[in-house]
Amino acid sequence: MSASNLFLTSGTADKKAYVEMMGAMVDAIASAMDHPKAYAGMGPYELRAAVHTDELLPEKGCGFEAILEEVKARILPNLVRPMSTDYMAHLHSAVLMESIAAELVIATFNQSMDSWDQAPVATEIEVEVIRNLCKMYGYDENSDGVFTSGGSQSNLSGLLLARDWFCNEKCGHDVKKSGLPADFRKFRMYSSEVAHFSMEKSAHLMGMGYEAVVKVPVDSNMRMDVAKLRELIEADIKAGNKPFCVAATVGTTDFGSIDPLAELRQICDEYGMWLHADAAYGSGVVMSEKYAHRVAGLAKCDSITVDFHKMFLLPISCSASLIRDKRYFDALTIHADYLNREEDEEDGYINLVNKSMQTTRRFDALKVWISFRMRGRDGWSEMITKCIDNADYFYSILKKRDDVEVVVAPEISSVVFRLLPVPGSSEDADTMNKRIRRKLLHHKGVVIGQTVCNGNVCLKFTLLNPLQSTAKLDELLDLILSLR
Ligand SMILES: *Cc1c(COP(=O)(O)O)cnc(C)c1O
Repeated sequence: MSASNLFLTSGTADKKAYVEMMGAMVDAIASAMDHPKAYAGMGPYELRAAVHTDELLPEKGCGFEAILEEVKARILPNLVRPMSTDYMAHLHSAVLMESIAAELVIATFNQSMDSWDQAPVATEIEVEVIRNLCKMYGYDENSDGVFTSGGSQSNLSGLLLARDWFCNEKCGHDVKKSGLPADFRKFRMYSSEVAHFSMEKSAHLMGMGYEAVVKVPVDSNMRMDVAKLRELIEADIKAGNKPFCVAATVGTTDFGSIDPLAELRQICDEYGMWLHADAAYGSGVVMSEKYAHRVAGLAKCDSITVDFHKMFLLPISCSASLIRDKRYFDALTIHADYLNREEDEEDGYINLVNKSMQTTRRFDALKVWISFRMRGRDGWSEMITKCIDNADYFYSILKKRDDVEVVVAPEISSVVFRLLPVPGSSEDADTMNKRIRRKLLHHKGVVIGQTVCNGNVCLKFTLLNPLQSTAKLDELLDLILSLR
């Protein structure tokens, strides 16, 4: 592996170097798995010192063998291992093996999804995958979608189309051409108080600011309270504001709760509003034969955020933004002489940049194409069902205890709970729950989540790993209880 091998080409020496380099890295990765815990334990100061380097760009390069040794010594051992059943802090998943192989194709050929001539077969595959996804979520042939970098971008994309739709169709104003209308401060969108912060971020990026986001209270199941939503919309209309969108959450980040889509659809129709579904988490539920009915309402939403790098177990990044009526993608279309010429498009060349906020973009659709076809409905249903069943089980064992409080029965695969101090302890519950999470991270190699609910510090299990077992969940609970 000499420095003269720059690229994988048709040359024999390049092919050999490629196979050797990939092989050596694969071996190093496999060996790193000899440490079974989710995290090796170093704290931030120690880790910072361990990776400190004065010379990112040394005078003379050290060669691949030497850098591989450094990667083995300093980096691989300190990575968190989302594939571990001790890892359940966030919506951050293990990745399916075939999708890692897909990443090798994606990186090696480096197709860029903006124009057909940079990604011919990749464009056609993404179009195929999107068409099938639309069908899977109950959309008809007028729908469309595009792959994005993640749920945050998919949300921004959906909300932007919502705003432009509203301005075009309800106010006769073209935002794309003229910018925000004079009364933009009156625009209001509604999401629940436990919705993702990308709602506020999107409102800011769209020039309307956080004040445009009305936080709707949730019911005791952490779902948007529809009666409160109606009151808030009525009050806004009375005050001269302009409600344009409800952003429902299908699987809230902390609780996995699902807003009542059928009722929200009715309200949106009544008031002439767009219904966006942030299903970054809950989009995966559609794969479970047993639980798919919980997200059936997605079919009635005007736009859907799907994340494949959460429940779907595919490598970051992998997400899609789906739109019920493809005409509204026009908001993101702009033609450039060098890239997406209209004359080519008339001849059948598809330039996906026309639907995307990104220009240069990864061929992430390949991971979905490979993994869906390889595992099929059966394989997928089994994996997703297992995760949801695990959450049900964990909830049921917590529910039986009087020294643990559980916030809400899980609708997907997250369980939020808090330990109560043993009687006579001088430590308050918040301090104790925080202490236990840190202890697990640094001393037990176990990575779990922490959040705040109703003002109380809580712990969280996000169960995305189909290899997780009820026996292991019992064991983890015992471990946690022993740390009180
Ligand atoms: C994770 C998440 C997002 C953000 O998605 P990214 O892929 O991290 O950008 C948005 N909404 C919800 C409900 C999420 O759980």
